[in-house]
Amino acid sequence: MTLLVELLHSSPLFFVILCGIVGLMVGSFLNVVIHRLPIMMEREWRVQCAELNADAPSNNQSEQNQSSRYNLIIPRSACPHCAHPISALENIPILSYLFLRGTCRNCGAPISIRYPVVEALSGILSACAAWHFGYGMAAIAALLFVWTLIALTFIDFDTQLLPDDLTLPLLWLGLIFNLPGVFNIAGTFTDLTSAVIGAVIGYLALWSVYWLFKLATGKEGMGYGDFKLLAAIGAWLGWQLLPLVILLSSVVGAVVGITLMIVLRQERNVPIPFGPYLAGGGLIALFWGQPLTQAYLKLLAMP
Ligand SMILES: [Zn+2]
Repeated sequence: MTLLVELLHSSPLFFVILCGIVGLMVGSFLNVVIHRLPIMMEREWRVQCAELNADAPSNNQSEQNQSSRYNLIIPRSACPHCAHPISALENIPILSYLFLRGTCRNCGAPISIRYPVVEALSGILSACAAWHFGYGMAAIAALLFVWTLIALTFIDFDTQLLPDDLTLPLLWLGLIFNLPGVFNIAGTFTDLTSAVIGAVIGYLALWSVYWLFKLATGKEGMGYGDFKLLAAIGAWLGWQLLPLVILLSSVVGAVVGITLMIVLRQERNVPIPFGPYLAGGGLIALFWGQPLTQAYLKLLAMP
């Protein structure tokens, strides 16, 4: 154990590789979260609705039993086509997908490319976080930030939802990690005051845009999940980086949105999730926030 700690201290490359491998394995778990959390939420809503409609108690009971058997661990992962249970050997991040050539070993049904993509993304970003922050608490905090943002991104793509179960813990974690003298040893993140103001301004910024848009057009441009996500990003990065996050996510969102409209000839009224762009903006700001802001301020200061 002491040998491991010494190795982590002395070899930055070892730490990067270790975090990359852990990131791959966590990516495999994130696939489960992305797939199951929305289903768990829907089941919970059904139980609550059934309770309100208390007229069919026998139905309630069966719903409740169903939901008690479905969480992030139970039941075990299985092929959606033939229900063949996925063994540990078939569940190795990326390698299993390549070895099985993207098909179920039992029935040959294709496995979505999404699974290895999420695993690879998680592995690469985890290695980046380890490289950027170096061995220490800041890197561990950054890993938690990165992993939660990946899960939120793909859930929002699939369902246009940003679950409170992820956005609110992310907000609290951001505030806790920025408690001065507790975790913020490296001074990598921000101070508690900036974090609290960041959470408040993050929420209010999108809340105001939402209401202005609604008053002007009568439509809802985004959801409350977006406000909570930007509040969480503000709690992690401090209010100082919020303008950059909003700028980055708007630019990327506009480019992707317009491209989709042209390429897929999508209707302009199709809801485009904003969460993935906020998450992307948050990640870019985590790694390059300071140099980007400095460059931006220099540009403003030029005559
Ligand atoms: Zn199968």
